Amino acid sequence: MSEYTNQKADIHMHSTASDGGYRPDVLMELCAKAGLNIVSLTDHDTTAGLETARLVAEKHGLQFIDGIELSTRTNGVSVDILGYGFDIHNKVLQDNLAFHRNMRQERMDRMIEKCQENHLNISIEQVKAEVTGETYSRPHLAKALIKQGYVESVHEAFDKYLGYGKPCYVFKENEMNPQEAISLIHKAGGIAVVAHPIYYDLDDQIVQWFEEEDLDGIEVYHRDHQPEDVERFLQLAYHAEKRLNRTVFKTGGSDFHHESFGRAGEQLGLTKLPYEQGLRILDFAQKA
Ligand SMILES: [Zn+2]
Repeated sequence: MSEYTNQKADIHMHSTASDGGYRPDVLMELCAKAGLNIVSLTDHDTTAGLETARLVAEKHGLQFIDGIELSTRTNGVSVDILGYGFDIHNKVLQDNLAFHRNMRQERMDRMIEKCQENHLNISIEQVKAEVTGETYSRPHLAKALIKQGYVESVHEAFDKYLGYGKPCYVFKENEMNPQEAISLIHKAGGIAVVAHPIYYDLDDQIVQWFEEEDLDGIEVYHRDHQPEDVERFLQLAYHAEKRLNRTVFKTGGSDFHHESFGRAGEQLGLTKLPYEQGLRILDFAQKA
């Protein structure tokens, strides 16, 4: 029996700094209400919410870990790499994030041009009104299209216009690959973890990243991981530990955005990350 039976850790969640539904301060208040003890905010490709989140988390007596979720692509598959316990002011990291923000903005400009070519009269201001954080993405454009009455849902917007190969789609250029994301997090002093591996079916590559890129961990516990998936990724982690003779972090969390976003099991603290595993990440982050 664990000595931490009543302690809870949830180290994967999003705020309005990326695509979540709550501001970082409100999200941390919700974490306190949910009875969490260790938390991390892991917004997509931005650290903008971390300072506020830490302040509010610590005010409520929560242990806070700086986090991020980097978007990458390998062989046409989107792979998210989580980073923990890094220096949020690291220049290499911040320059890189700014570069990708600019790329996304340019891509949005080009998608709006294509919308206009397709008689969808949409402006950058209308898209901007949908953006809560620092970054543009296609769902923001989709919401603007809904408001202008061109489509009825985000799904329809992607299906008709914004999805891959559709008339207003623009290819994402200069995307990071997982190896680059791992290295970037290491340069900023953090640990790199492959997020929700059930989405990719890339177990062999993950093994390779452990061996060749010094990947630090794997998200074993996630709202979309069934018990057999948890077992599969625990085994993967144990084998990597044995072969490499080093610690592999086994992380997890709710990947919470908002209750109303329509994903099953998306509730703060519902996904059980063994508290000891949360403590190991916290230990690392506090020594860093
Ligand atoms: Zn996430």
